[in-house]
Amino acid sequence: ISRIDLRGTAFSGPASGPADGVLDRDLLPRAELDVEAALEKVRPICDDVRHRGSAAVIEYTEKFDGVRLERTRVPAEALGKALEELDPAVRAALEESIRRARIVHRDQRRTDSTVQVVPGGTVTERWVPVERVGLYVPGGRAVYPSSVVMNVVPAQEAGVGSLAVASPAQHAFDGLPHPTILAACALLGVEEVYAVGGAQAVAMFAYGTEECAPAQLVTGPGNIYVAAAKRLLKGVIGIDSEAGPTEIAILADDTAEAAHVAADLISQAEHDVVAAAVLVTPSEALAEAVEAELKTQVPATRHSERIAEALSGRQSGIVLVDSLEAGLAVVNAYAAEHLEIQTVDAADWAARVRNAGAVFVGPYAPVSLGDYAAGSNHVLPTGGCACHSSGLSVQSFLRGIHVVDYTRDALAEVTHHVVALAEAEDLPAHGAALKARFEWKVPEAP
Ligand code: NAD
Repeated sequence: ISRIDLRGTAFSGPASGPADGVLDRDLLPRAELDVEAALEKVRPICDDVRHRGSAAVIEYTEKFDGVRLERTRVPAEALGKALEELDPAVRAALEESIRRARIVHRDQRRTDSTVQVVPGGTVTERWVPVERVGLYVPGGRAVYPSSVVMNVVPAQEAGVGSLAVASPAQHAFDGLPHPTILAACALLGVEEVYAVGGAQAVAMFAYGTEECAPAQLVTGPGNIYVAAAKRLLKGVIGIDSEAGPTEIAILADDTAEAAHVAADLISQAEHDVVAAAVLVTPSEALAEAVEAELKTQVPATRHSERIAEALSGRQSGIVLVDSLEAGLAVVNAYAAEHLEIQTVDAADWAARVRNAGAVFVGPYAPVSLGDYAAGSNHVLPTGGCACHSSGLSVQSFLRGIHVVDYTRDALAEVTHHVVALAEAEDLPAHGAALKARFEWKVPEAP
C-alpha cells in the first residue's frame, strides 16, 4: 500500500463547510476506471439485446460466462431445490440478515402527506412504488447472496408489485446462478430469476425480451460493465446510483487498533482487484503499525493475490494528514462508499461527515457488519458519487406524485399571478387557460 503525504497541505475553511472543495481531489487515491471505454464495449451489447432479445442475451452469456443457456429464466424447481439444500448455518444467517434489513427498511416507508396551501387549495404528496423492477445481483469474481437481501427487502417494503432478479450464469452450477443466490431468492419469495449477468442483464430489464418483461427501474451493484450499462440506458430505464467496485475509507487516530484497521482494509480489498482501501490518519505510528499488520495479515488470507493487487493499486493508500480536522476534509472530499471512523469521540466526528455512502462509527461497527447484518443497506454509491447520491433504500423504489386540488375560489384568487408570470415567460396561452374559467378582469392592485 502506498503512502500519500498531505501534511503541510493547506486546508482553508472549516472541514465540514463549503471549503471542502479547496482540497484537490486529484491528490487522493482513486481507481482509474475507464467507464468511457466500458461504455463503448457495452453499447453494441445493449443495442443487440434491444433488437434480438433473448437470442442476443443467450449469445453474450455464452461469450462472457461460458455457458450456453436453453432459456434465460431459472425454473421454479431450481429455486426450491437450492433452498432445500442450503446449509442450515447460512440459512440462519440469511434469515437474520433479512430480519434486520426489514426493521431498518420498514422504518423508511413514507406516508402520503397533504398540505393546505391556501383555503381551498391543497397539494398532496403521494408515494407510489415503481410497478416492476429488475434487481441485479453480481456473480463474477465473488457471489453475493447478501445483495439479494439488500435489493429485495427495500423493494418489497416499498410495495413494488413485480420483482425480477438477474445474476450471472455459473458454469460450475449447470448454467444457473450460484445456488446460495437462488436460495436467498426463494427465502424472500422471489420467483422470477434470470441466469443473466453484466450489461446484457441491464439491457434485458430495460428493453424486455421474449422471456422477461421490461422493468421501469434497475437497481443493484456490479462491475464496470454493469455500471456502464446503467449509465448508458438511464432514461430508457430508471437506475439507482452507480454502485461499482467497492471502497473503504477509514479515518483513524492513535486510539485505533492497527490490527483491526488493517483487517477492515483487507476485507473490502477482497471484493475486487480494483476495490479501493484508504486509511486517512494524522498518526505516523498508526500508519506504520497498519503497514506492518498488512504485511502479516494479507498473505494469511484466502484471496491474498486479489487483495494484494487491490491494496497496491493507485486507488488504495495511506493518506497522512496534519490533524483529524484535515482528515475530515480529506474524507469529505473523497466521498467514500464506506467510511469508518475509528478515532477518539468517533460519534462527534461522524456527525460532521457530509459525503459518504454509509458511515461506521467506532471500533465495533466494521464495514463487514454492514455488508451482511447491520440492517443498513450495502448497495451504496461509489467513485465519489456519494457526494450527490444515496444508497439503496425504500425511497429508491418510490415516486412522489404531487396531487393538486384547488376549488374555484382558490384558483380565482391566484389567477392574476399566474397570468403575470405566463406573460413574463411569453406563454400567454397558459394564462388564458385560467382566464377561460372566469368572467375575468385583472383586479386592481391593492
Ligand atoms: P458482476 O456480476 O458485476 O459482473 C459479471 C458480468 O460481467 C459477467 O456476467 C459478464 O457479463 C460481464 N463481463 C465480464 N467481462 C466482460 C467484458 N470483457 N465485456 C463485457 N462484459 C463483461 O460480478 P463481478 O465482476 O464479480 O463484480 C461485482 C462488483 O460489484 C465488484 O466490483 C464489487 O466490488 C461490487 N459490489 C459493489 C457493491 C456496492 O454497493 N457498490 C456491493 C457489492 C458488490
